[in-house]
Parts: sequence; C-alpha cells; structure tokens
Amino acid sequence: MQNQYDLLIVGAGVSGSALLYLSTKYTDITHIGVIEKYAAPARVNSLSSNNSQTLHCGDIETNYTLDKALKVKRAANMLRNYAVAQPDAHHIIFKYPKMVLGVGEAECKLLRQRFETFSPHYPNLKLLDKKAIARIEPKVAMHNDKFREDDIIALGSTDEYTAVNFEALSRSFVRQGEIEAEKHPEKTIDLHYNEFVSHIRIDNGGFIVQTQGTCFRTRSLVVCAGGHSLKLAHDMGYGLHYSVLPIAGSYYFTPHVLNGKVYTVQNDALPFAAIHGDPDVLVPGATRFGPTALVLPILE
Ligand SMILES: Cc1cc2nc3c(=O)[nH]c(=O)nc-3n(C[C@H](O)[C@H](O)[C@H](O)COP(=O)(O)OP(=O)(O)OC[C@H]3O[C@@H](n4cnc5c(N)ncnc54)[C@H](O)[C@@H]3O)c2cc1C
Repeated sequence: MQNQYDLLIVGAGVSGSALLYLSTKYTDITHIGVIEKYAAPARVNSLSSNNSQTLHCGDIETNYTLDKALKVKRAANMLRNYAVAQPDAHHIIFKYPKMVLGVGEAECKLLRQRFETFSPHYPNLKLLDKKAIARIEPKVAMHNDKFREDDIIALGSTDEYTAVNFEALSRSFVRQGEIEAEKHPEKTIDLHYNEFVSHIRIDNGGFIVQTQGTCFRTRSLVVCAGGHSLKLAHDMGYGLHYSVLPIAGSYYFTPHVLNGKVYTVQNDALPFAAIHGDPDVLVPGATRFGPTALVLPILE
C-alpha cells in the first residue's frame, strides 16, 4: 500500500543510508521507506566538506580507552570492508599516512604509554621518533632544513585506509540498497526526497509520520536526522530532559604542507576530536586545518 511501511527511516545521511542498506541486505523486512528533506543523501553532517573525513579506528584517538577503541575498530573495519569492495571504492575510501603528535615531555610520555597498551591490538601502529616523523611529514619535524628543537614523538601508521568521503559512502549505501531490493521482488524501497518531517505520532502500535503534503504510516521508525532527531523525539514526549548545544566546525586551507593526517593530543576538556591538519579528499594540493569549535544556536 502506498506510503505504508514496515520500516521508515527519517534522514538520508550516512546513518540513515547505512541502515537502509543493512536492512535491505540482511533482514527480511519487505517495505522500507526513507524520508529526506533535501534533494539528495548526505547534505548536512555527512556532506564531504562538513566533516574531517577521518576513518577513526581508535589507535591514535588519545581520548579513547582501549575498550572504546576496540569497539570503534570493529565498526571501522566493517566500513572499510564494505568500501573497498565497491566498484567506485576510489571515490569512497582513501589511504594517507596518519599520526598523533606529542609535543613536550608529558605528551611524549603519554604516547609511549599508549603505544605499549594499544600496539598489541593494532599491528600497523608505529612509535615514531623525530627522524621517522620527518620521513613522513618533513614540515612537522623540521624547519629550515634542521630538526626542530622540541621534544616530539608520534603514534601512527603509513599504509592504512584513513579517510572516507562520507557523502559518497551514503550515496553508495542507497544505490546498493536499491540493487539489493531489485534482486528480491517482494522487497520495495521508496526514497522520498524533498520531504520535511514535521510531526510524528504513535497510532495503533505503529507510527504516523507527517510531512508538508503527505502522511506516512509505518510499523517501525528510525529517526536518523542528526541534530534534528532530538526535536522530533521531544515532539513525541521523549527525552525531554535532554537538550542540544550546537557546535559549528570550520576548516582553513593552506598550500600543501602535510602528506597525511596529523592530529594533536586530545584536550580532555573537549568532547570532540582534536584539532588536526590533513589533505581534503576533494581538494588536491592543499592542506586543511581545523575544525574550529564555535557555539552557534543553529542546527545547520
Ligand atoms: C566538524 C565535524 C567534523 C567531523 N569529523 C568526523 C570525522 O572525521 N570522522 C567521522 O567519523 N565523523 C566525523 N564527524 C561526525 C560525522 O560527520 C557525523 O557523525 C555523521 O555525518 C552523522 O551522520 P548522520 O546520518 O547521523 O547525520 P546527517 O549526515 O546530519 O544526516 C541527517 C539527515 O537527516 C535529514 N533531516 C534532518 N531533519 C529532517 C526532517 N525533519 N525531515 C527529513 N529529513 C531530515 C538531514 O537533511 C540529513 O540529510 C564530524 C562532524 C563534524 C560536525
């Protein structure tokens, strides 16, 4: 029946599109719908220019415990395995060297300790001294053809997939979901672009999802609307004790100075990834620095 689903997904960023692909390929759910307010997948956080494009796998993220790192590693491996198997893998996933750089006694000590703990789980992880850093990132370790005087050490790797175009990945998930559905005549996928979900209510054990012009009915619903998800939850009376503090991140470009991703040691007071410099997968010949973290009272 039209606009009636077993599973309805709100939002076609990387979360919603991954769920679409997984539920089409690995479940027996037959009628799946996606509602996205823009004309294409991944126009907000998953847009290629709106994030750092890093495939975090836990080895150089100095704010992760080993336990958290290993969970993230499992998920990152799934993403990598999916991406490299795609015909357009070279648009989705990329290999660059990466490192987290410790400067000064305290940070160098921290990285040495983390290397002891993490390297048994990450066989490609190396402890890099000044000379080894200079071979990968000369501009980091040297100035005017001389080694910098600072005490520096890094943890990193040189031959791993470290960057992802999450926008291309989202489009790929949608495409592969459609291909999966075509293989099974009982399965249908409907993609509703340019439809803004304004209201959700529970009805007869299912959900009624309203957009400007249409009313959708679904047995199960997953809202993957990024920062807008909480607003829709509030609308249904859920999570009223939560609120969102939007933080905007911007990047700045310089001519090429870095060959790969160079992260700084995490500032424990901040809940997001440390500031870093790296190549942008879509801007060859430049180095990107960021993100800034600016509190802005808007969601996008
Ligand atoms: C500055 C910055 C850097 C980051 N760097 C990294 C990184 O290096 N590596 C990493 O793994 N992650 C990174 N992230 C996080 C990553 O970008 C997000 O976790 C991810 O993109 C979230 O995907 P999503 O699908 O949940 O949300 P989104 O991509 O935001 O998708 C939500 C979708 O829902 C749609 N939507 C919203 N409201 C409605 C509505 N009412 N009706 C219909 N549709 C709606 C939106 O249009 C959008 O398409 C970064 C984030 C930021 C901000």
